[in-house]
Amino acid sequence: METLPDNPYLLLTPGPLSTTKSVKQVMLRDWCTWDDDYKQIVETIRATLVQLATPVPGYTAVLMQGSGTFCVEACLTTAIPDKGRLLVLANGAYGRRIARIAACQRIDHLVLDSGDTEWPDTEVLSKALAQDPGITHVAVVHCETTTGMLNPVADIGDIVRRFHRTFIVDAMSSFGGIPMDMAQIQADYLISSANKCIQGVPGFGFVIAGKRELARTRGNARSLSLDLFDQWETMETGHGKWRFTSPTHVVRAFAKALEELAGEGGVAQRWKRYRENRDLLIAGMTRLGFVPLLDEPYRSPIITAFLGPDHPDYRFNQFYDRLKQKGFVIYPGKVTQQDTFRIGHIGDIHPADIPQLLAAVQDAMYWV
Ligand SMILES: *Cc1c(COP(=O)(O)O)cnc(C)c1O
Repeated sequence: METLPDNPYLLLTPGPLSTTKSVKQVMLRDWCTWDDDYKQIVETIRATLVQLATPVPGYTAVLMQGSGTFCVEACLTTAIPDKGRLLVLANGAYGRRIARIAACQRIDHLVLDSGDTEWPDTEVLSKALAQDPGITHVAVVHCETTTGMLNPVADIGDIVRRFHRTFIVDAMSSFGGIPMDMAQIQADYLISSANKCIQGVPGFGFVIAGKRELARTRGNARSLSLDLFDQWETMETGHGKWRFTSPTHVVRAFAKALEELAGEGGVAQRWKRYRENRDLLIAGMTRLGFVPLLDEPYRSPIITAFLGPDHPDYRFNQFYDRLKQKGFVIYPGKVTQQDTFRIGHIGDIHPADIPQLLAAVQDAMYWV
C-alpha cells in the first residue's frame, strides 16, 4: 500500500481534528453496505459505544448520517412528541443551536440562557420545572465548545430526574475524552459524533439512549431522514443495517479509531493526555502573556478560549495565517461579548507537540 502523505499542519480545532495515519489508512478500500462483514462492523461499533457510555444495562446506540448537528436535530425531533415542551439550558453557541433546531422543528420550547461564562443556574431550573409541568424534556451541552466550559451535567441530571422529565445531553465534544456514565448523570439521550474525541473522521454521529425511552418515540419525528426511531428499528432488525446510504469508509475508520482508543488505555488515559496537553498549553500561553477566558473550575480538557491580545495591531486572521504556515491550525472565537480565539487539545495531539506549538505562537506574535 502506498504511504500516506504527512499532514501539512496539526488541527488544534474541535473537529474535524487530527487523526492517526492508521485511521485514515483503513479507508483505502470499498465496502459493501448490506453484507454481514460490514454489518458486523456496525454492530461492534454500536455495542462499544454503549459500553463506553455506561456499565448499566438497558441502553442502545443509533448511528446517523451527517455531522453532529444532524444528530442533535434527529434526537430532538424524535424524542419530543408534538405535545412535548423543551427547556434548553444555554451558555454558548451550541446550546443556542439546540434552541434554533427546536424552533425550526416547531417544537415548543423555552431557553434559560446564563451567558457565555456562567454555568446554568440550577435554582432557576428547579423553579422552572416546578412551575411548569408542561416541560417534558431538558437539554444541555456537556462541554460548551464555544468557550471550553464544562457544564455540571450530574447536578442538572439530579434535578431533571427529581421532576421526572427526560434529559438530553449534547456530549458532542466530550464523549470519549472525559470519563462519564450516562446512567449516573441520569441522561436519557447522549449525543456525539465520529470526528470528536473518538478521533474518527467526519461523516456521521450517534445517539446513545435508554431503550425504554427510545421505544416510546415511534412516529414522533417531523422528518423522514432524521427519524432516529426508524433508524434504530432498522439497525436492530437488520443487525447493523442503515436506512439510506451509509458512510462506509467513515464507519470503517471509526471502528479503527475505537480500537485505538482501547489501545491507548481507554477513556481514562485519553482524558489524562488531553489534560496534559491543556495544562502545558495554558502554562505556556500564560508565560507568553495570554489570558484564558474562563477561570479554572469551568475549564475542560477539550478546548481553551483565550482573550485576543489587547493591542491595536493584533488581527486574528494574521495570527492564524502565521501559525498555519508554521504547521498549526487554531480556531476563531465564538463568544459574542469578547474577542477570543480557541485552541483545541483533542485529537492525535500529544504533550510533545505543545512546546513546538508554543514556539510557533511566540514566533507568530508579530504585534509585540
Ligand atoms: C461539534 C459540536 C456539535 C456539532 O457540530 P457539527 O459541526 O454539526 O459537527 C454540536 N455540539 C457541540 C458541543 C459541538 O462541539
